[in-house]
Amino acid sequence: MKEIILLKLGEVVLKGLNRHSFEETLRKNIRRRLNRVGAFDVRERQSTIYVSPRDESTDLFTAQEKLSQVFGVASLTRACEVEKNMDAILNAAAEYLRVPLSGVKTFKVESKRSDKRFPLKSPQICSEAGGFLLSKFPNLKVDVNHPDYIVRIEVRDTAAYVHGNAERGAGGIPVGTGGKAAILISGGIDSPVAAWMMARRGAELTAVHFASPPYTSERAEQKVRDLLAKVGDWAGRIKMYTVPFAKVQEQIMANCPEELFTVIMRRLMMRCSEKIARSEGCGALITGESLGQVASQTMQAMVCTDAAAQMPVFRPLIGMDKRDIIDIANRIDTYELSILPYEDCCTVFTPKHPRTKPGLKFVEKAEEALDCDALVEECVQNAKTTMITPEG
Ligand code: ATP
Ligand code: MG
Repeated sequence: MKEIILLKLGEVVLKGLNRHSFEETLRKNIRRRLNRVGAFDVRERQSTIYVSPRDESTDLFTAQEKLSQVFGVASLTRACEVEKNMDAILNAAAEYLRVPLSGVKTFKVESKRSDKRFPLKSPQICSEAGGFLLSKFPNLKVDVNHPDYIVRIEVRDTAAYVHGNAERGAGGIPVGTGGKAAILISGGIDSPVAAWMMARRGAELTAVHFASPPYTSERAEQKVRDLLAKVGDWAGRIKMYTVPFAKVQEQIMANCPEELFTVIMRRLMMRCSEKIARSEGCGALITGESLGQVASQTMQAMVCTDAAAQMPVFRPLIGMDKRDIIDIANRIDTYELSILPYEDCCTVFTPKHPRTKPGLKFVEKAEEALDCDALVEECVQNAKTTMITPEG
């Protein structure tokens, strides 16, 4: 019995003229994700992608797990592929779905016939299959309204497919179809979630992390790499820039009013990130900020940070509640890593009373005490890069 994985496309199907390139990117992402699992044929027909292992011993459980992290897929299921005749379809249904059908009390059959030459119409396929399965499984009754289990039969162009309920896919649109953007990533809870959300909207990611050795440790940097590897399971490979930031912070401490320390530091982060982002061909910056969460995330403070960059700054978490952010962090398995108590450069130098409503003019004036261009140039020159590749 041949088993394959069927993927139903999500929003990709809505994209009109771009549809072709969306689907091509999606197929490429699927192939890349399955690279280490085995050899597969990946082809697309009628808003469905067929992923067939070339070798029967391929681990489809792992393949499905990986595919559930591919953006652009609305739902996915393993399915049994059979010849297009009723005998083959009925036997496959009884055999392939034997375990789930033995464990439930009610079921129904749904069928789709996209090959209109097939002699039976959908309602006839359903009633034949229903009758056959009732005769094979004495535990079963038909319930068309609230069945415990739904047997699905699809008669398509070259074969028929039998499967049970499909699993919900990762949603979103394929990574790489939404341009490239640079995520400012800390070791906190929020920025990995922000990265994931923008990758889900098709953005390919580059990451920028500010580290402040000797005030911050190597294991704090390792934590950020580990977080990015988790995000990379969904977003693909991510090039990470680690920017040494201690000198900038010392200069701000020495030359600017303490209450403006945070906002000026964030403006310098924006400048460095924008420079790196441009060199990487990115069109936007991403941060994990959320309105009102801390002093630097008031509207006035964000006006000041935005003014330091020409590029648009995407803040996908801006209107989200912390609990909702944590739910996503758990879903993408970054939460436990994020709460490890390693120091972040932002927590090393924190003013006692940061100004929550800084005026831009006032901030710009205070910044004149620094040679910002030279500091940014030096940071970018000294940045180190690491390629983060997905874990599995
Ligand atoms: P997070 O949980 O992402 O750290 P946060 O709520 O702790 O966010 P801040 O520490 O004020 O908030 O940081 C706000 C945003 O600034 C972060 O979401 C991230 O995008 C960026 N950021 C903060 N620290 C760093 C860092 N060390 N390197 C790169 N970006 C950073
Ligand atoms: Mg933080």
